[in-house]
Amino acid sequence: MSATIIDGKKTSSDIKRELADEVAQLKKVGITPKLVVVLVGEDPASEIYVKNKEKACDLVGIDSVKHLLPASTSQKELLDLVNKLNNDDSVNGILVQLPLPKQIDENAIILAIDPEKDVDGFHPINVGALMIGTATFSSCTPSGCIELLKRYNIKIEGSKAVVVGRSNIVGKPVAMMLLHENATVELCHSRTRDLAAETRQADILIAGIGKPKFITADMVKPGAAVIDVGINRTEDGLCGDVDFEAVKEVASAITPVPRGVGPMTIAMLLRNTVTAAKMHAAKGRK
Ligand code: NDP
Repeated sequence: MSATIIDGKKTSSDIKRELADEVAQLKKVGITPKLVVVLVGEDPASEIYVKNKEKACDLVGIDSVKHLLPASTSQKELLDLVNKLNNDDSVNGILVQLPLPKQIDENAIILAIDPEKDVDGFHPINVGALMIGTATFSSCTPSGCIELLKRYNIKIEGSKAVVVGRSNIVGKPVAMMLLHENATVELCHSRTRDLAAETRQADILIAGIGKPKFITADMVKPGAAVIDVGINRTEDGLCGDVDFEAVKEVASAITPVPRGVGPMTIAMLLRNTVTAAKMHAAKGRK
């Protein structure tokens, strides 16, 4: 039997609708969430991401402001802008689109963002909070994975979850989130000895590798839920890290690429921005 296709596009639209209702209520009490996106240079993929973020903000009623800086921007200039945004009480969320040009140290920029405006959830304070289960902002792509599992009623508690990939933005945070949801979690990577033997034990398999169609049907336990975070541009167009056509015949549920995890990332960013606006208002800022 073919798997349930987990529709990230539809789920993200549902979440945006819910957020639009929430923002409409917030506006009635004088709170308009505001996100500032900073793009340095002219990376075409980043330009598309930033445009999509703007569009999504409009849809939900979040104010969005874009700062486009030239590729020659120095680290000091970017830090000055971040500091200005940190000190601007009208700004609830700051997102500096990565990657940054070579002359800028990404970690220095992430560290400079006020953790209470870090809607990407990349600041070490927010990463640490995720570790101990007190996170206000969790990074968006991993949160999107968890949200999809929950909205499709896939049981996480007690399940064996295997995550392939251990990056700071995908693998590690999603593993931690699954742990908080009471899964038994295993984190695999390029030095894992027998990867297929590990993935075949997974009730929930998350792939964040960056290699097209790397997870094949024989690596998946029959009935597993498979979440494919990968976005790979190939000659045949976009594809994930999972061999979708073959794996959907083995899994019980699976995300496609595109229309899977990707659209959820933006929905989670909007949610973090609304959370930030409510938090700032509660502290007396609007
Ligand atoms: P990274 O390159 O930072 O990490 C890749 C991970 O995969 C590493 O931990 C690496 O292991 C592991 N890996 C690589 N080769 C193998 C292998 N042969 N066997 C087992 N593990 C392997 O990538 P990201 O985490 O940034 O991104 C992963 C994918 O997710 C990419 O396709 C990216 O485009 C996509 N992505 C999608 C997003 C979305 O919004 N949907 C957002 C962010 C990323 P090791 O650590 O040992 O090197």
